[in-house]
Amino acid sequence: LRILGIETSCDETAAAVVERDADGQPTVRSDVVLSQLEEHSAYGGVVPEIAARAHVEALDSLIDEALKRANVSLSDIDAIAATSGPGLIGGLLVGLMTGKAIAKASGKPLFAINHLEGHALTARLSDGLKFPYLMLLVSGGHTQLILVRGVGEYERWGTTIDDALGEAFDKTAKLLGLPYPGGPAVERAAKDGNPDRFAFPRPLVGESKLNFSFSGLKTAVRQAATEIAPLTDQDVADICASFQKAVSRTLKDRIGRGLERFKMQFGNEADQPALVVAGGVAANLELRETLQTLCDKYGFRFVAPPIRLCTDNAVMIAWAGLERMANGVSPDDLDVQPRSRWPLDANAETLLGFGK
Ligand code: ATP
Ligand code: MG
Ligand code: FE
Repeated sequence: LRILGIETSCDETAAAVVERDADGQPTVRSDVVLSQLEEHSAYGGVVPEIAARAHVEALDSLIDEALKRANVSLSDIDAIAATSGPGLIGGLLVGLMTGKAIAKASGKPLFAINHLEGHALTARLSDGLKFPYLMLLVSGGHTQLILVRGVGEYERWGTTIDDALGEAFDKTAKLLGLPYPGGPAVERAAKDGNPDRFAFPRPLVGESKLNFSFSGLKTAVRQAATEIAPLTDQDVADICASFQKAVSRTLKDRIGRGLERFKMQFGNEADQPALVVAGGVAANLELRETLQTLCDKYGFRFVAPPIRLCTDNAVMIAWAGLERMANGVSPDDLDVQPRSRWPLDANAETLLGFGK
């Protein structure tokens, strides 16, 4: 099976061709991503209208490029998979309408893919993971701990009650006058900083529910920065290091509980329990080290796919389509609509009965 994937939910325009053989082995034939970072950096965040226009301008030639690099034409493709939510509605419309048009013109089936399902299933492509496993998605728009039981079977164990983790990094950077995107800038600055200078809050630590909260942390950073302003480079470094430490400690508590719960629920059923990270924040080395240590402690395999597959891409969308096809899930009708909000567990409900 061979699928053309299309991703346009946020600020990356992406197209890819991916294959899956009868044994479930994947082959990525092409993977094209155009990031809109430069278009948005002047605004310190993603501007929906700019994003939608950029998708319109880039998508057609990106799809041509993906087919060309894969050395195939449309007639060699078995299906089309396009992200249809969650995300910015303008971008979703562009990608899904393009997917529909190609499906209609070529007579191939269309799969309308939940972006989160793409992130959730990527580790099966990159690392051959078996169900069930836990996935921590930490990006600019999402912070979720998800139990991945099977194709179409997802349980959200925890979510942020306010800011996403990537958003917290971005806002902290902006507050400190660091460039966008904030994550890499904060991580760089933190290297020379003292992580013990500021005692920032560790929201929800100790709570039995597995949710996250990061807006209080951002407020604490603002207070500290205001109190000691004007900031020297050392002050900025110390704030960043202390911020990252608070984030790490928070995740250690939250995710640690998740791993315990997984072990309680599955016992010996999962022969190799695993925790997967996804999303742009997964690039953060301190976060990776924290999760690795935690996994060692609880006997979990820690899986961090290559960062190109952690951030937004079309390979994961094509792969989710392939997994669905291989599980006998029916394609979507061509009148399927994009959804800016689309929780993964609600998706599981609509898919009930499929993907066992
Ligand atoms: P979505 O949430 O819709 O999946 P997105 O574009 O918001 O998409 P990604 O592209 O996956 O998310 O990731 C971008 C986020 O990752 C930004 O918030 C950025 O600051 C953060 N990030 C990137 N590198 C690092 C890093 N080294 N440390 C911390 N955060 C990082
Ligand atoms: Mg992005
Ligand atoms: Fe994403």
